[in-house]
Amino acid sequence: MTGAGPTSAKPLVVCVDAARTYGSGPNAVVAVHGANCVVPTGARIAVVGPSGSGKSTLLHLMAALDRPTAGTVDHPGLTTDPEGGADILQARDIGVVFQGPSLLPPLTALENVSLPLLIDGLTADEAADRASAALAELELGTLAAKLPDEMSAGQAQRVAVARMLARRPRLILADEPTGQLDRETARHVLEVLLSAADSLDAAVLITTHDARVAGALDERWYMADGRLVQPETPDRERELR
Ligand code: ADP
Ligand code: MG
Repeated sequence: MTGAGPTSAKPLVVCVDAARTYGSGPNAVVAVHGANCVVPTGARIAVVGPSGSGKSTLLHLMAALDRPTAGTVDHPGLTTDPEGGADILQARDIGVVFQGPSLLPPLTALENVSLPLLIDGLTADEAADRASAALAELELGTLAAKLPDEMSAGQAQRVAVARMLARRPRLILADEPTGQLDRETARHVLEVLLSAADSLDAAVLITTHDARVAGALDERWYMADGRLVQPETPDRERELR
């Protein structure tokens, strides 16, 4: 990364031959074959591919929730000590929306959104204020006191989006965030995600089956059978070196 410029301009994620194999021996499943990709600051990326192609696995690797079984996944623009070689990530910098249900069942929507903020050290009042604002942004104010069991799958998914945005991440990784939503709501959630990304100066990577979602982002990466294909540009090639 020589000549990479100021810290803020360093890419948020760099994958070099990053692979993830589940299991071993004859039962091994290669979910992601050596992936090479860069998520620069300001990115608006859709990862498109059929079910089972490895999108969620790649997203979890980028989120540092999982480790590659070969190759590397680094976060030069998010590490606090990049020169020292230590990859020290702050959990709050990476916002993840999971594909499946992820709200904590015993907590209300407001409590689900507040909890990470309390963990980050906000006071109870600050956390409640910020959580309420995030729910309002997703037009979920009326759900604040509801438990996940009392919501539709789509509502729960939007609460999970609010929970992610309330933490003000610098990298947004959303796994099929509109998968459970009708067309109109999907459009709204995408709008909120993109405008939040603009105001947070965050990069966005969204996995999706929805051509409308993919079309609304700046670039599209494709996955098939664990292989990532992205349009190659000279800039990207340079960044990878
Ligand atoms: P996608 O998100 O595109 O549907 P996934 O990343 O979920 O794809 O899965 C990629 C492949 O890895 C699939 O063949 C899936 O069955 C397999 N896989 C995913 N998670 C696991 C796991 N925890 N253990 C074993 N195989 C898994
Ligand atoms: Mg998936």
